[in-house]
Amino acid sequence: MNIEINPERIEELAIMLTRQRSITETVEEQLVTEKVTHFFKDMKYYKEHPEDLITVPVPNDPWGRKSVISVLRGKKAAEHKKTVILIGHTDTVGISDYGDLKELAHLPYELTAKLTERKEQLPLDVQADIETGQYLFGRGIFDMKAGNAIIMSMMEEIEKNLDEFAGNIIYCAVCDEEANSAGMRSCVPKLVELREKNQFDYTALINTDYMTSEYPGDQYKYVYVGTVGKLMPSFYVVGKETHVGEAFKGLDPNQLVAELTRRINLNTDLCDIVEGEVTLPPMSLKQQDLKPEYSVQTAKTAHAFYNFATHYSTPDKVLEKMQGIAMEAFEAVLEAVNEQYKKYSELNGRTIETLPFAAKVMTYRELYDAVRSENGPELDEQLELLRQRWLLDETIDDRDYALKEVEWLQMMWTNQAPVIITYFTPPYYPHIYVEGKSQQEQKLLKAVEDAVNTTETDYQLVYKKFFPYISDLSYAAAPKEMDAVDALKQNMPGFGVKYSLPLEDMQQLQLPVVDIGPFGKDSHKFTERLEKNYSFNVAPVLVQKTVMNLLGDL
Ligand SMILES: [Zn+2]
Repeated sequence: MNIEINPERIEELAIMLTRQRSITETVEEQLVTEKVTHFFKDMKYYKEHPEDLITVPVPNDPWGRKSVISVLRGKKAAEHKKTVILIGHTDTVGISDYGDLKELAHLPYELTAKLTERKEQLPLDVQADIETGQYLFGRGIFDMKAGNAIIMSMMEEIEKNLDEFAGNIIYCAVCDEEANSAGMRSCVPKLVELREKNQFDYTALINTDYMTSEYPGDQYKYVYVGTVGKLMPSFYVVGKETHVGEAFKGLDPNQLVAELTRRINLNTDLCDIVEGEVTLPPMSLKQQDLKPEYSVQTAKTAHAFYNFATHYSTPDKVLEKMQGIAMEAFEAVLEAVNEQYKKYSELNGRTIETLPFAAKVMTYRELYDAVRSENGPELDEQLELLRQRWLLDETIDDRDYALKEVEWLQMMWTNQAPVIITYFTPPYYPHIYVEGKSQQEQKLLKAVEDAVNTTETDYQLVYKKFFPYISDLSYAAAPKEMDAVDALKQNMPGFGVKYSLPLEDMQQLQLPVVDIGPFGKDSHKFTERLEKNYSFNVAPVLVQKTVMNLLGDL
C-alpha cells in the first residue's frame, strides 16, 4: 500500500503545534498534549475506538503533565500483528534567548518575517539561509514539532485507507524530553503492557527528532540507526583538611579532583569507537569542593562528575575504567605532593620524611558494605529516615540527592582517611547499537537501507549508526547482561528512590531504534530554523518507507 505524502498538511500541523507554547517543566506542556489528543479525537478511527487513545500521566508530576499514546490498527488481515512504534516529544526548551522577539517565538511566519527584516544583525550563515526562502524560524518548530507533524500526517493518511493497511502503528507523543524524559520513562511500561495484551509483534522504534549538519559545509542528510548513550561517572573525594599554616599536614581534595579532570576531560582515549563512529570524549559537568564557608582551613571533601558518551561501554565497564583512573590520579598526586614536601624540607634544612597518606579508591557499593558491616541494620533505618526528608525537599534534585547519600555514608564510616569514592550520578541513557545480530536488527537495517536507497532526491542521503544526541530513543532497550545493570543500580545513589528508570521494562522491550528527522539548524538557539523542502517532502517519505518496510516482508 502506498501512503500519500501531504507536505501542506505537515506544514500546517507543524505550525499548529509550534503556536502552542510548551516549554519543558511548565503547565504549558499539558496544553500541547491536549492539542495532540484533539487531533486524534477528531479522526473517525478514534471516534470508533476511543480505547486506542491512551493518556499516560507522569506520576507525581508537579506540572500535571501527560503523554498520549495513539494506537492505529490496520484492518487488512487482522491477524497481522506487526507493529511499528513512533515517538516524538512535544515539549521545547525555553525562550529567554529570543530577547525582544519573545512574543514572536511561537509564531513561525511572523518571526521569520521579522528576522528577514533584521537580517543584517544576524550571523552570516543565518542570512544566507534566509535568502534561500526555504527556512522557517520558531521555538520548537525544528526540535521537534515538525517531526511530530510528520507522524501525525502519516497516520491521517493511513486512516484514509485503513481497510488496505496491514499492521499497526503506535505513536507516543511524550512530554519532558528536554528535561528528564519523564514522559518516555512512563510510556515504556505501557508499551510492554500493550504488547502483552494485544500480542503485538513490535518491529522497531522510530523517532523523528531533528537532524542537522555535523560540521560546517556538511552536504549530507542523515538517518541514524541506533543511538548514543550517556553515563555520568562521579567522584566523591575525601582529603585531609589542614590549616594553611601547616600546608603539608593535609591532603587537598581540590588537587585530587583537579588531577581527575586533567586525566578525564576531553580525553579521546576514553571515546567509544564502533564501526568508525566515535563518541565525543568525556566532559566535566561539575567540579567543586564542599567547604561551605571561607576560612584558612583547607577543604576536606570535593566532588566532580563528567558526561560520558557511550557507543558500547556498559556501566560496569565505565566504572572499572574510572576506578583505574582514580587510582592513577591519586598516586600521581601523592607523588607530586611528596616531591614538593621533600624540596621544602631540603630548602629548610630539615630531615626528609614521606607524608602519611596512601592512595585508596572504592566504589559506592564497597563504601556501603563497609559502613553497613560496622553499623548493621540500624544504618538502613537511619538512611531511610534521611531519604524521606530529602525527598520532601524540592531544592534537592537527582544530582544533589546522589551526592547527599554518598556524603552521609562516608561520614558514618569510622575510617576517615583520604579516599576517592566512585559512583554514578543520574540520569542514565543506555546506548543502542544496531549491529545486525538479531533478525529484528537486520530487518531494521534493511528497511532503512532500502528507504534511503530508493528515495529520489537532490539531497545526498546517508544512513549512519548512532543518533548523536541524547534522546528518548535510549529507553527502547537496556543492557541484558546482569553485571552491567547491577553496576549501575548498586552504584547510583538514589536509584529507585529519587531517580527511577524502568530498567526491566526496557530490557523486555529491547527494540532496535532509528531516528529519521526533519532538517534544520541551531536547535536551542533563537536562530532555530527548519528547512522546509527536506523536512516536508523528503523526511516524510523516508519515515513512510521505513514503516512500510518494517510492516512488510522485506
Ligand atoms: Zn528534540
